[in-house]
Amino acid sequence: MEHRARKRFGQNFLTDPNTVRRIVEAIAPRQEDVVVEIGPGLGALTEPLLARLPRLHVIEIDRDLIARLRERHPPDRLVIHEGDALAFDFASLGERLKVVGNLPYNISTPLLFHLAGFAAQLREMTFMLQKEVVMRMVAAAGSGDYGRLSVMLQYRFEMVRLFDVPPGAFRPAPKVTSSIVRMVPKPASALDATDPELLAEVVARAFGQRRKTLRNTLKGFVDGGVLEELGIDPGLRAERLALGEFVAIANRVAALRARP
Ligand code: SAM
Repeated sequence: MEHRARKRFGQNFLTDPNTVRRIVEAIAPRQEDVVVEIGPGLGALTEPLLARLPRLHVIEIDRDLIARLRERHPPDRLVIHEGDALAFDFASLGERLKVVGNLPYNISTPLLFHLAGFAAQLREMTFMLQKEVVMRMVAAAGSGDYGRLSVMLQYRFEMVRLFDVPPGAFRPAPKVTSSIVRMVPKPASALDATDPELLAEVVARAFGQRRKTLRNTLKGFVDGGVLEELGIDPGLRAERLALGEFVAIANRVAALRARP
């Protein structure tokens, strides 16, 4: 039976075979990989991935789509995790996971933050997202796309935008262009924030009011004088600060708080 795309689940199904081929090439699945696909939908990526893997894990929320997948694939080859990817415990599937998917765009930002919490369990992620979101993920300090998403994801991952996909590659066609992004977790030795939650707080405060200077956005949290000691001009806005400078601020706050 024909499946009617559900807007509330962000359903835009990939139909262009050339795009499917390029994404599977980018994922480059190998027999020994533990691959997890988020949102298999009608199986555009699922089928070619299964053709290359002995087993594939998928996480899908739509019961009608789950029923279709169950009819088509034996459970020892396609392991279906029924439910919300936002609540999924990726650590339960082991280590060095390859997570892939044409993500539901309506939940992409919270999903990326959820996945960042499992960075130690991941080997690599390859996702299709709205181009505008990918531009924000990979943006450098000083660019208009640079913000909380850039800093928090760049702290944990190396990220590369691989290629763009036009709306015509999907049914129904979305309103926006999409991009493929590869995310590789940084080694633990590169994660130099003493307290990652403090880093998240500094970044959230600094970007909370983008037009204001650090002196204002960080008022009551860290003094302008402390920023100057770190070689950071308190008259700057958050968008000028590199990742390492956010980490330096968070580490100084952590050190000041740890003082007896
Ligand atoms: N992979 C398919 C493709 O490329 O054609 C479908 C992609 S579609 C953009 C997003 C898929 O994610 C849909 O199958 C949708 O039902 C599923 N989905 C939406 N929200 C989800 C959630 N919270 N958890 C798991 N899957 C979800």
